[in-house]
Amino acid sequence: ERKAALAASSGPGATSDGHKVPLLANVGGPADVPAAVEAGAEGVGLFRTEFLFLDDSKKAPSEEKQIESYRKVLEAFPEGRVVVRVLDAGADKPLDFLTPADEPNPALGVRGLRSLLDHPDVLRTQLTALAKAAEGLPVYLEVMAPMVADRADAKAFADACREAGLRAKFGAMVEIPSAALRARSILQEVEFLSLGTNDLAQYAFAADRQVGAVSRLQDPWQPALLDLIAMSAEAAKAEGKSCGVCGEAASDPLLACVLTGLGVTSLSMGAASIPYVRATLAKYTLAQCERAAAAARACDSAEEARVAAQAVLSGE
Ligand code: PEP
Ligand code: MG
Repeated sequence: ERKAALAASSGPGATSDGHKVPLLANVGGPADVPAAVEAGAEGVGLFRTEFLFLDDSKKAPSEEKQIESYRKVLEAFPEGRVVVRVLDAGADKPLDFLTPADEPNPALGVRGLRSLLDHPDVLRTQLTALAKAAEGLPVYLEVMAPMVADRADAKAFADACREAGLRAKFGAMVEIPSAALRARSILQEVEFLSLGTNDLAQYAFAADRQVGAVSRLQDPWQPALLDLIAMSAEAAKAEGKSCGVCGEAASDPLLACVLTGLGVTSLSMGAASIPYVRATLAKYTLAQCERAAAAARACDSAEEARVAAQAVLSGE
């Protein structure tokens, strides 16, 4: 029965009453594209460009090498959306030429956008490579920065994009609680938000995502995390802009319904999860998703939130 349901699952992501929620793929480079296309991804919601940089931690890849890699991903989704994240180095992804060696807390140090603003040449080359890669292609290119903390960060990134002559939408990832709390101010500088729920959970709960002993606090069903997500989605709605999720949270079919109910406008995940999320979302109306989201937020633990959302959706 599960197989039949999945086989029947194709086409754009939507609730049973037709509220559209584009289902996008997380990719690390051209090698991940065939699986994304096969799963029926409506585009790419998170292109993690750091994989291209991990080949050689001594220096950045040449502009030519970057153009080649970006173009292969962009070409795969004609008329689709491709959201490229600029380099997210540091913490769990250190790069010798960007990451300070002597930080006591690398996750709280110079990582993500912070390292790029310290090395504007690296950011400029990447943005120029993206502009050239997209030239002549009918794709909707969106470019976003990881680890945006405040409006100044968002402005610095948008300025760099404009200076590089990039014709794309510029966005900010919401991975730091300060960004969720002040999402409306960040949206004065950028055109969309994308929630990185892995890091958002890490920073909201002061729980290192690489430390198994604190994994309970990394559970994306934590009501406090749902509050931060709701806050970001509401801010985007008030500004008439979009707010997607590209962290692991989006790949849990039940949680995907709750995220939709919280007002999230697109879901990006590993390609393998797309058919399951599509099939589950198609079973419920937007109003049911909203009730499930409200029930989950009314709970005091991740376990209770999961049970409460399930109860609402199964009509108990
Ligand atoms: C996240 O933090 O949720 C995210 C999508 O980025 P990454 O997992 O690459 O840090
Ligand atoms: Mg992240």
